[in-house]
Amino acid sequence: MIDEFKKICEVKENVNLKDYLTFKIENYAKLMIFPSNIDELKESLQIIKNNKLKYFVIGNGSNIIVPSYYDGVIINLKKLNHYEIKDDILYVEAGMMLNKLSNKVSNMGYKGLEWACGIPGSIGGSIVGNAGSFKSSISEVLISATLFNGKKIIEMSNEELKFQYRDSILKHKKNLIVLSCKIKLEKYDANELKKIILENNQKRVSTQDLINPSNGSVFRNPEGYSAGKLIDDLGFKGYKINDAMVSLKHANFIVNTGNAKSEDIIKLIKKVKKEVKKQYNIDLVLEQEIIK
Ligand SMILES: Cc1cc2nc3c(=O)[nH]c(=O)nc-3n(C[C@H](O)[C@H](O)[C@H](O)COP(=O)(O)OP(=O)(O)OC[C@H]3O[C@@H](n4cnc5c(N)ncnc54)[C@H](O)[C@@H]3O)c2cc1C
Repeated sequence: MIDEFKKICEVKENVNLKDYLTFKIENYAKLMIFPSNIDELKESLQIIKNNKLKYFVIGNGSNIIVPSYYDGVIINLKKLNHYEIKDDILYVEAGMMLNKLSNKVSNMGYKGLEWACGIPGSIGGSIVGNAGSFKSSISEVLISATLFNGKKIIEMSNEELKFQYRDSILKHKKNLIVLSCKIKLEKYDANELKKIILENNQKRVSTQDLINPSNGSVFRNPEGYSAGKLIDDLGFKGYKINDAMVSLKHANFIVNTGNAKSEDIIKLIKKVKKEVKKQYNIDLVLEQEIIK
């Protein structure tokens, strides 16, 4: 079966996921494949289906917690990273990084993604979780996405993707793979955009823990509350389970201070969630995803 994949695209066996997850945790996966176009992706999915293999798609691995050993195939879409702008519409493939794209289109004098300059995720992952910051999100500029549903390529409009705060229909329909999307941009002064990006980056550096590996915010903000403040008020900053720690800088970040395991992160998430429920009767909802 490995040879079948090798005929189609790049394949890595027994992969150390440290290089593919922003948490920098030493987890392993049986196989990681790197299709570089849609035909390679389709053929790979056929092999996965024929061999009844477990799989999931990874973008930049900045919003997932993976088991210590994943006995299946991880489809890495980083080679699908082409983009172009025509008539103020950006066409971009799923593996392109959102933060890089934000800088590129802003430098070219296009407004629409300057809020995304610090989000270390792929376009695909960002559509799935409706990534956002500074009161904007990808749902505000996305026109439509092109997806593969296991059988054929389909187009879904912004409305059909049912975006909500850090949520879309794709979070719940795991058979849909984002291939590319269209984003509406607007011509704007590149120097002004540079200033906005600089300010956004400065705000991030001053409020977020960007030194220690993490997945960014752990929980969604509950309606009317800041998850970080609730957690901070309970004195969790610096609280550790082995090398997993509630960040000293931002209480809604859990960071890997060295050799944290996924189990340590999950235990810490559960501990914080339980305490917030006990003290405030608020059910925190996880923003990140635990892959089974
Ligand atoms: C320091 C830091 C700061 C962050 N700041 C922010 C922030 O300000 N705002 C914010 O919203 N997030 C933030 N994040 C979280 C994260 O970067 C975003 O959620 C990002 O959009 C995730 O993209 P990804 O490619 O890494 O997704 P991954 O973690 O690779 O995947 C997430 C989910 O999407 C699925 N997926 C990925 N690609 C595809 C595809 N092509 N088709 C179908 N499914 C796919 C995966 O299977 C998984 O279910 C931050 C993270 C870090 C580490």
